[in-house]
Amino acid sequence: MAIAGQGITIIGGGIGGLTLALALRAKGAEVRVLEQADAIREVGAGIQVSPNGFAVLNALGLGDAFAKISVTGQAVSLRDYKAGREVTRLDLTGLPDPQSYRFVHRADLIELLATSVREAGVTLRLLQKAETVVPGPRPRVELANGDHVEDDLIIGADGLHSVLRPVLNGVAAPFFTGQVAWRAVVPNLMGHPPEARVHMGPGRHVVSYPLRGGEAVNLVAVEERRDWQAEGWSHIGDPAQLRAAFADFGGMVPEMLHAADRPGVWGLFRHNVARHWFGENVALLGDAAHPTLPFMAQGAVMAMEDAWVLADRLDRAEDVAQGLADYQNTRRDRVVKVVETANGNAWKYHLSNPLMRSAAHLGLGMMGRLAPGKMLSQFDWIYKHDVTAAR
Ligand SMILES: Cc1cc2nc3c(=O)[nH]c(=O)nc-3n(C[C@H](O)[C@H](O)[C@H](O)COP(=O)(O)OP(=O)(O)OC[C@H]3O[C@@H](n4cnc5c(N)ncnc54)[C@H](O)[C@@H]3O)c2cc1C
Repeated sequence: MAIAGQGITIIGGGIGGLTLALALRAKGAEVRVLEQADAIREVGAGIQVSPNGFAVLNALGLGDAFAKISVTGQAVSLRDYKAGREVTRLDLTGLPDPQSYRFVHRADLIELLATSVREAGVTLRLLQKAETVVPGPRPRVELANGDHVEDDLIIGADGLHSVLRPVLNGVAAPFFTGQVAWRAVVPNLMGHPPEARVHMGPGRHVVSYPLRGGEAVNLVAVEERRDWQAEGWSHIGDPAQLRAAFADFGGMVPEMLHAADRPGVWGLFRHNVARHWFGENVALLGDAAHPTLPFMAQGAVMAMEDAWVLADRLDRAEDVAQGLADYQNTRRDRVVKVVETANGNAWKYHLSNPLMRSAAHLGLGMMGRLAPGKMLSQFDWIYKHDVTAAR
């Protein structure tokens, strides 16, 4: 079943929805995107795009444009929190393509995707908040303004509060992990090198990396806390509280925190990966199917992989039902593994017992010195997986 000429409506103009729009349009589908906001925009924050995500952008013809708006990540440096001393280092120049691990401002990536989507002839409709989706031979989106949209196929790329997910899976309550993430972009006045730095302290860690040609630095500071914030980026935290929570961190951290005048703060919740990713002529994609904790930096990248695979499987299948089943079968196990790995990562950064922390850091340091290649190859299953390779 080639999808050329099929009408496909995507709910959500985020990284997942726009990547899907491009991938479907490249196969000739008639695509429209319904976005609830009054503009296609993103929160002021960075993301890391690992080689498996870069592969998707490349295959969609955006490789060069994306390289221009992003910074090449040369290493991931794990550091002790107090003096900022390096414990070990994951050398990303050892990747098959050393230019393929990138740091980008979300707003720059979304602008690139939105421009490409418009140029490709996709209809972008703003201020279209979906209220629910009715699967069926001719599926329907009910909109908050009282209108509805029918199409051949409807995809929910509407993020972690998806309206389609409960239709397919029932309502599930996520649970608070006991961690909050502070996020800010600050000027790079401290000479941050082109690497991701993970500063590991008891019950807390700070991740930083440069953006926008090295002019800015993205900062994510995670702390364990009993009280919690609702999930969402609209919360602006108190910068004094942020500085106090990480006051004993050294290295570049104090300077970065000092510059964070309007930090966003976000409670980190754990969600199960949706059991059912599709119904009759409807499917979920990205965070709508599988929100993840940020500790593997793979949420947006998984949404990009989903987008490629969904367009590909629909185009190759004999009918929509088979294409959607192939999509879920191809994606679900991989995504579950990534989400579970991210769930397991926080405690490694957050060891509170100083003896255990020293021992863990010693082990990491030795591994980095004795077997530097092994440090990187443990992530081969993520980074070397190229969903576009079997085109
Ligand atoms: C602290 C932190 C750091 C992270 N770092 C990274 C990283 O380094 N690398 C990485 O790959 N990922 C990272 N992520 C994860 C990443 O941000 C998400 O996985 C990714 O944004 C998911 O994309 P999406 O398109 O599925 O959903 P979203 O980005 O949530 O987009 C959903 C879109 O749908 C729209 N929408 C929602 N509901 C409706 C509705 N009812 N009707 C119409 N439109 C609707 C929204 O307005 C939005 O535009 C991080 C996340 C956090 C919290």
